[in-house]
Amino acid sequence: MTAQTADRRGIMFVLSSPSGAGKTTLARRLLKRDAAFTLSVSATTRPPRPKEINGRDYFFVSVEEFNRMVAERDLLEHAHVFGHDYGSPRAPVEAAIRDGRDVLFDVDWQGAQQLRNSDLGALVTTVFLLPPSIAALEARLMTRAQDKPDVIEGRMAKARSEISHWAEYDYVLINDNLDACYSQIETIVSTERLRRDRQKWLQPHVDSLNREFEERS
Ligand code: ADP
Ligand code: 5GP
Repeated sequence: MTAQTADRRGIMFVLSSPSGAGKTTLARRLLKRDAAFTLSVSATTRPPRPKEINGRDYFFVSVEEFNRMVAERDLLEHAHVFGHDYGSPRAPVEAAIRDGRDVLFDVDWQGAQQLRNSDLGALVTTVFLLPPSIAALEARLMTRAQDKPDVIEGRMAKARSEISHWAEYDYVLINDNLDACYSQIETIVSTERLRRDRQKWLQPHVDSLNREFEERS
């Protein structure tokens, strides 16, 4: 880690989209290619899908355990989505940010709003992914083949209301071509890292420029 990454204020990078628009695919790519990022692994009461691993994709917990986490303020945000509870554990996020790392969140619009309004809200950057068409969204949900037909129908029915929140996000991308969309995400990350308030070393640098001025006078 360079001195600059250690000092940098991390990004809390939120990716939201209607289910099936591609956020898990893009999130995995970002985590693989950008070593500064760590995933905020959510807790959920939803049952695992076939290839999901406890602790990697989600912490699969009982309703009782989830309610205990809420009561003990262990979650930075939480929401009820598709009949199940989901929430972002607070401690790993705070630890990652303390270490100057970036944290990726795959949460819905309710989570994005709550993170923005949290005490760490100044670090939050939000991105919403739109599908190129509703037909493409449905086709992706079907090729993913991880949900039963009635679940897919439910997700399609919810897509419209999820899409209605698009304008609440900092950045909105259309995930048509996966590589093009990923490269736009990389651009956003690079730009966010250059924000003045994320570069903690700027003030000392300007101080040293001023000292140089004084030495010359
Ligand atoms: P989400 O996490 O938003 O529910 P996924 O990342 O699971 O969505 O993507 C749903 C399906 O669509 C997956 O099978 C994925 O491989 C596919 N997919 C994602 N992005 C694209 C894209 N740009 N073009 C075609 N298929 C895509
Ligand atoms: P899925 O069941 O497809 O993994 O996720 C369903 C929805 O829940 C997605 O829109 C996903 O972004 C959202 N989600 C996952 N984890 C969280 C979380 O911790 N908080 C909130 N608010 N939403 C989440």
